[in-house]
Amino acid sequence: MGRLIAISNRTAADPSARAGGLAVAVWESLTSTGGMWFGWSGNIVKGEPGPPEHITDEGVDFVVTDFTEAEHDGFYLQYANRVIWPVFHYRVDLAHFGDTDFDAYEKVNKRIADMVVPHLEKGDSVWVHDYHFLLMGDYLRKGGWDGPIGFFLHIPFPSPEVFRALPEHEQIARAMCAFDVLGFQSENDRSNFVQFLVRSCDGVDEGDGWISVFGRRIRANAYPIGIEAESFAKLATGQRAKTATSRIGKFLGGRKLVLGVDRMDYSKGLPQRFEAVGKMFDNFPSTRGRVSFTQIAPPSRSKVEEYQDLRVQLDELAGRINGDYGDLDWIPLRYLARSYDRKELAGLYRIASVCLVTPLRDGMNLVAKEFVMAQDPDDPGVLILSQFAGAAEQLSDTLIVNPHDRYHVAETIYKALEMPLEERQERWEKLRRTVVEQDISWWRQKFLDDLDVDTC
Ligand code: UDP
Repeated sequence: MGRLIAISNRTAADPSARAGGLAVAVWESLTSTGGMWFGWSGNIVKGEPGPPEHITDEGVDFVVTDFTEAEHDGFYLQYANRVIWPVFHYRVDLAHFGDTDFDAYEKVNKRIADMVVPHLEKGDSVWVHDYHFLLMGDYLRKGGWDGPIGFFLHIPFPSPEVFRALPEHEQIARAMCAFDVLGFQSENDRSNFVQFLVRSCDGVDEGDGWISVFGRRIRANAYPIGIEAESFAKLATGQRAKTATSRIGKFLGGRKLVLGVDRMDYSKGLPQRFEAVGKMFDNFPSTRGRVSFTQIAPPSRSKVEEYQDLRVQLDELAGRINGDYGDLDWIPLRYLARSYDRKELAGLYRIASVCLVTPLRDGMNLVAKEFVMAQDPDDPGVLILSQFAGAAEQLSDTLIVNPHDRYHVAETIYKALEMPLEERQERWEKLRRTVVEQDISWWRQKFLDDLDVDTC
């Protein structure tokens, strides 16, 4: 049995990155194969970084490197997060195409590949994660590695027209074809990638995920990522969850809760969502005083200008909506710019009558799946999900909306609040089944089977 070698920007060597389901899933497959995990240490240093640090934890060897200030800025803050992130989320208008940042992106991909190659042995399989390392396969090949390499893109892959807006798209697409198996969150993302290869690179779609392109045969498939479903359901009735439920219960005073939980990111459609909630109070006066909307929005990437602008926009909108609709004893919209522990979130999901997951684009959206698992079977809440979230392909039994259409979102929130118990239970049972069956272990196994990795 060969080892599995993982490469991702952040690794589980960093305790703050360990709690998530992904870290657990990757870790388990590394432990069972005696594997290694390469990435960034999380430290930024002045001058040249020292040799990579080796950490061994529960049979997994982590090899992590510091970044220089120039690498952190050019590779991470600029090219990854201000070019690839906006373009792949269809926000070409927000992309900053600098003239040197792609160099930094290439150099970091190459430096990490050079760090990995000497450790690779015959029989190993490499699994590269996410948009930070689109060029990694190519650099591993150039370093002499000819064994299997899989790649999973956690964010969307845009339509060919949008991808072409990226000045370096040809080079990136060619480099991506050095991977053997490319995993996408949805069929839509997969088909965008394949269409680009067919139309612009003379690729041939051979069916069943196989594509011939640039003289190679590669596979591109959808592997929608899941959560640790059963254990999340348990969190929702745990002590921390109950404490959070009772705290928010005091605020609600018997009113119904409509909840949103998102990183403060322009891809999440928060201004549009706030406006839709305002529209609901406007068009459905019976909801006034009876419903409270709470948005949890931990700030992220707050050094980046577009994120600072979003913060100002949300502050202004929240103030306006509360000014317009609030009353002496009622706050219509609360927005909490801080993060909560997942154990607390589980309690908030459970008490919510409606969860609004309305991103303008999202690779998957795990909040949607967590909300489903946290529900009380006797009185489940209703999920309202954007058609542009990867999760919409799997969770089509819920209420699906176009997040740009504020009037329709407003109407849908009202419909969800009024939905009879029987219909809520029927819909929820179907969603629950999907989230449980297609959980994080299912996702990992599906991907590793296609990469031909034996993790048993
Ligand atoms: N989350 C959290 N605390 C918060 C807000 C979110 O722990 O205050 C978690 C949430 O439970 C989920 C993840 O952050 O597991 C967000 O994942 P998602 O796929 O929804 O969005 P992303 O942030 O990856 O774009």
